[in-house]
Amino acid sequence: MFFFLLVALSHTMPTAEERKSPDLVRINDTMNKNIGEDAPEIVSIQQNLLRATEARKLLEEGNKRFRENRTVPKDIGRNKRKKLSTEGQKPFAVIVGCSDSRVSPELIFDLGLGDIFVIRSAGNLVDDIALGSIEFAIQELNVPLIVVLGHEGCGAVEATVKAFEENSGASSHLSIIIERIRPCVEKVIAHENGKSSLMNMTIEKNIQAVVEEILTRSPIVATYVGDGRVAVFGAKYCLESGEVVFFR
Ligand SMILES: [Zn+2]
Repeated sequence: MFFFLLVALSHTMPTAEERKSPDLVRINDTMNKNIGEDAPEIVSIQQNLLRATEARKLLEEGNKRFRENRTVPKDIGRNKRKKLSTEGQKPFAVIVGCSDSRVSPELIFDLGLGDIFVIRSAGNLVDDIALGSIEFAIQELNVPLIVVLGHEGCGAVEATVKAFEENSGASSHLSIIIERIRPCVEKVIAHENGKSSLMNMTIEKNIQAVVEEILTRSPIVATYVGDGRVAVFGAKYCLESGEVVFFR
């Protein structure tokens, strides 16, 4: 009797997937249709633009749930892991983010296993390996959206501003990060209205610089963006409010 009750309950209780917000399920369904196994190998530009728009909407909706404390339960159980293992990953966005422990992409976008392809470094910078990772994501995984995600109070930017102001050096590997961000400090120094302004402006300038660097240094990304298969956006995360603001 108890067994039958359990079986009956298992059919009536919502699964983790069903407990997701209706919007998330709806958009995921739409995207899966577009990027599923039945999708043609070469999808149309219109489809890709739609997918990039939908992908950004997924991020924006997830971030809204996060900052409003309405996060949905994540399916990280055995069945989900098995599905991802056998069917492969189909992430819908590349996030180039900072290593800062307060800016975890899966958390701030309220997402789970297999949803986003994340590349992180102090200062959300890219090098050859990061560029190769982005190219892998758009070529092999058909990801339609790249987001360069900086944030308020970035320690890498702060270290660069400090080194610039004090004309001081840093340890050999940290100095590589500082030298990469330094041109952004130099560009905004003329508009300085106090340290906070310099910091904030440099953070935003650095995000824009990384977007431009991805497009300049990767002809593959530039081609995909040029023909509408991929969209690239900069965005900034606000530590206290939890909001991710897209630049356009
Ligand atoms: Zn940072």
